[in-house]
Amino acid sequence: MTKLIEHWIGGAPSSARGSRRAPVFNPATGEQTGEVVFATAAEVDGAVKAAAAAAQGWRETPLARRAQVLFRFRELLAANTGELAALVTAEQGKVISDARGEIARGMESVEFATGITQLLKGEFSEQVSAGIDVHSVRQPLGVVAGITPFNFPVMVPLWMCANAIACGNAFVLKPSEKDPSAALFLADLWRQAGLPDGVFTVMQGDKEAVDALIEHHDVAALSFVGSTPIARAIYAKGAAAGKRVQALGGAKNHMVVMPDADIELAADSAVVAAYGAAGERCMAVSVVLAVGAAADPLIESIRARLPGLVVGDGADETTDVGPLISAAHRDRVRDYITAGEQDGAMVLVDGRRPDDIGGYFVGPTLIDAVTPEMSIYTDEIFGPVLGVVRVDSLEQAVGLINDHEFGNGTAIFTRDGGVSRRFQFEVKIGMVGINVPIPVPVAYHSFGGWKGSLFGDAHMYGPEGINFFTRGKVVTTRWSDSPELTDPFTPRTSE
Ligand code: NAD
Repeated sequence: MTKLIEHWIGGAPSSARGSRRAPVFNPATGEQTGEVVFATAAEVDGAVKAAAAAAQGWRETPLARRAQVLFRFRELLAANTGELAALVTAEQGKVISDARGEIARGMESVEFATGITQLLKGEFSEQVSAGIDVHSVRQPLGVVAGITPFNFPVMVPLWMCANAIACGNAFVLKPSEKDPSAALFLADLWRQAGLPDGVFTVMQGDKEAVDALIEHHDVAALSFVGSTPIARAIYAKGAAAGKRVQALGGAKNHMVVMPDADIELAADSAVVAAYGAAGERCMAVSVVLAVGAAADPLIESIRARLPGLVVGDGADETTDVGPLISAAHRDRVRDYITAGEQDGAMVLVDGRRPDDIGGYFVGPTLIDAVTPEMSIYTDEIFGPVLGVVRVDSLEQAVGLINDHEFGNGTAIFTRDGGVSRRFQFEVKIGMVGINVPIPVPVAYHSFGGWKGSLFGDAHMYGPEGINFFTRGKVVTTRWSDSPELTDPFTPRTSE
């Protein structure tokens, strides 16, 4: 039996009126498990108005009380990790340890936001002129919206909503229609944590719901994470509608391996970064740039590790690589491998599987002799496919990285500090790992790419997240000294 997946408005599940719906599947079996109802523009309007009413009371709630709600929310996430992780695996497909991992990383964003009493401290300048002081504060925006991708149905919403809510905003989440249930689970945890009704809202839907959020007068800011074409479009539409927008897009992350690198460490790192979460991570490594003599031993070391990876249902604790999100995406990934082969690359390990095995599986795939004009190099594949480009020098590697459309993450493996220093100085990428394959910043730094991986200038979470969800106000005050106090050391006559 399939379940109906609806909205969350005003602190409670909300029956949907929209007639447009989409099936939700278990990617490991291909079975339909649910049906998600898409919000109409009228429903979005009603939900945003409820959120706007709630925002007013929430911004007046003292900081310490807001922090207490966040502390309780964090504890509820910890206590419910098992159930939430199982829900993520059932709709998204990732292995259960990855699902628990994404909840743990999301919780770090909540932990950061519990420090809101410190994070919102303003600045004060005394006596800028005679009797005049200036102070600056940061105030919430009102209603802010988050539009999130399928690959992290818990972590990415938490990147956004923890800071947005801590800052005193009401947050409206439009999750991916492919795995929409985790958003409702989060909504119920917020309720249990004591968040006032209407401060956290979930609107299920697709483009129509997103457009209604962009066009709504009461939505002040849009935080988006997803593919680059949609990120670019939402940034343009949102900016035209006068909204503050941060729109994080896709990626093609390169890992450079120098000849002096610890090849075993580099191979382990490449395997984890390329095939973990079946490659459906915006920080996945999808290209290795093997410099000179590093190439042959590195490729052999990676190849030797692949037969040990178990492909299967993510709910099984022994699985290493789960299914892809949908049949259409599986077909797309397989088509890229075929295109690479036709373009002259060498498929050393082939993860293409027949359709009749059930579920949307592509196994770990390793491709040598990739060159920069091939579609397997230029495009984000978003699957367990690792291409190796052989290069002669660090300069050539950096040139390729800097010329690429995307600029999310990159890594270098080397024992030479000078080489790594030159690399981090030159490379046009937002997040860099030195002997670290997936350099996702901790929650108290901020996350974001360059070039086609981010539209707007605010990175996600951390200090930049606090800035994004608040706006500055500067107050200049004049208070003349009271005549009685001109000489503060002379006792007043009445005393
Ligand atoms: P997507 O762009 O298809 O969808 C993202 C969100 O936008 C979803 O909520 C979806 O319903 C909505 N959407 C889709 N089409 C829309 C349209 N035409 N108008 C308005 N809204 C629309 O992305 P996805 O397939 O869910 O996620 C995978 C992508 O996300 C990959 O490209 C991946 O690299 C990227 N991603 C980036 C980061 C990052 O931090 N840079 C993190 C995670 C995922």
